[in-house]
Amino acid sequence: MSHSTADPNEDDVLAARPWLRAYADGVPAEIPPVTETLVEMMESSARKHRRRVALEFFGAQTTYRELADRISRAAAGLRALGVRAGDRVALVLPNCPDHVVAFYAVLRLGAIVVEHNPLYTARELRHQFEVHGADVAIVWDSVADTIATMPDDVRPAHVVAVDLTEGMPLRTRLALRLPVRRARTARAALTRRPTAKGVRRWSSVASGRPLSSRVPKPGLDDIALLQLTSGTTGAPKAAMLSHRNLRSNAAQGRAWLPGLRDGEEVVYGILPLFHAYGLTLCLTFAMSIGARLVLFPKFDLDLVVAASRISPPTFLPAVPPIYDALARASVQGRIDLRGVRFAISGAMSLPIPTVTRWEEATGGLLVEGYGMTETSPVALGNPVGPSRRPGTVGVPFPSTEIRVVDPSDPTVRRAPGEEGELLIRGPQVFRGYWNGTAETDAVLLPEGWLRTGDIVTVSDDGFVTIVDRVKELIITGGFNVSPSEVEQALLLHPDVAEAAVVGIRRPGGGEDVTAGVVLRDGAVFDATALREFARQHLTAYKVPKRIVARASLPRNQVGKVLRRVVREEMSRPDTSPDTTTAG
Ligand code: AMP
Repeated sequence: MSHSTADPNEDDVLAARPWLRAYADGVPAEIPPVTETLVEMMESSARKHRRRVALEFFGAQTTYRELADRISRAAAGLRALGVRAGDRVALVLPNCPDHVVAFYAVLRLGAIVVEHNPLYTARELRHQFEVHGADVAIVWDSVADTIATMPDDVRPAHVVAVDLTEGMPLRTRLALRLPVRRARTARAALTRRPTAKGVRRWSSVASGRPLSSRVPKPGLDDIALLQLTSGTTGAPKAAMLSHRNLRSNAAQGRAWLPGLRDGEEVVYGILPLFHAYGLTLCLTFAMSIGARLVLFPKFDLDLVVAASRISPPTFLPAVPPIYDALARASVQGRIDLRGVRFAISGAMSLPIPTVTRWEEATGGLLVEGYGMTETSPVALGNPVGPSRRPGTVGVPFPSTEIRVVDPSDPTVRRAPGEEGELLIRGPQVFRGYWNGTAETDAVLLPEGWLRTGDIVTVSDDGFVTIVDRVKELIITGGFNVSPSEVEQALLLHPDVAEAAVVGIRRPGGGEDVTAGVVLRDGAVFDATALREFARQHLTAYKVPKRIVARASLPRNQVGKVLRRVVREEMSRPDTSPDTTTAG
């Protein structure tokens, strides 16, 4: 610990922020206020690391200089389509080099990126497009028809389709074209030619002349990203994150890891770039340190093993199920992970056995962090050093303050050690919800404090432990699921009269989406058929793992379903007599 108290002012600081004592050596209490936008950050990485590999995809490499050139051409192509400062541009893409190019090209024009999960169903995507109203969408070609055939009032004027195979090396592309079943199946999983009218090809939009340097760049306080989240109450909302927010979080991450070597790290982009966590760790942080970002369109052990033979990872941000799968592969001798010096787990709680397995396999540290979309997303982290404390989500990041308050009255502070709602303040705290003043006012308090909706305790020395959530969202595999969205999908089924959806903790960490349904008179309960039905409306991770039939749902005096009670009842191993069967 490098914090001596020779300076009397430092005693005050330590009294107010006791966690500074736990910071790893070399980690500052504050980061200097950021001065570059994400656009300038990428330009300076491209200058400093010109010849270094920025992106790698199935072995195909793009240097920083090439990346900057592609961003400039793509920006010019988007400008020709009419994109201007402040416009929203939707990205509906898996991880691939063009995702990175499109992201920075949109930002270069001062426009706003809106990220989406490309595996969402047509219904889910339509709801999201209703929120942001983007006129241009850059999408995976496999979903281009879905977007191009949305109802008139939400359909973007321009749909631009990206063929993932175009980012691959020639020999992989040729192998995918072989007239054998295996190649056809692999190819079908990666690309599908759009049939809807008017869909443009990204390769032609993005490959014209570079953008004129006279086109104005965005400012630090301009919005860079609208990140869709179910937030604390459940309805889809778009969190506005500025260049300052996102650049600050990348800088805070850099400050947290003084042992990083600029220009030399190999970061594995396994987490989806469309999720706040993957976006900051891979799209911004990795690019800010001139890392080589190895991109995976999905988590597939074989792909990770193959990539590790060319570019072994040194930094691997992920979620516990991925760490478990990789540690197991390492024990079986399939992958050598000994070069991984840093691994940061977030988005869901990290079980201690996962930490032990991972650290044995790699010899490096696996630490847990905490954040939310509204904090760009990282706000707390475990020190990457001996003071880390497994089982906690760590201590506030540099330049980040926390408070614990009464959830029913956030002006009332809770004493140290007492449970309460966590509030966060720092340069990474978002600017509010897009077109959502009331929702913003509900979570952004005066003086910049953000209500997290998480119930925590904080130890005397500043380590935070999550106890519960005020908000009802369910976290499964690191993804958030809004119970009301799943309930609405189940209610579309003619046999379902009422539905309550909750998260049931599973032993290995994380939660299972679980539904209790009340059937209409005369209907016969068939959990498998209901799950099949839900799958048509919801992306895979939101589909309930278990559906239970119930005679009724517990409700309060005004008739609101008490999800908390449902959760307690369904958490018991024996949920009878009310229940009929499990799916
Ligand atoms: P999102 O906005 O999708 O990033 O979700 C944010 C929520 O995820 C937080 O408010 C927490 O409830 C939860 N979360 C984030 N990190 C952790 C963690 N390390 N352990 C448990 N829950 C977490």
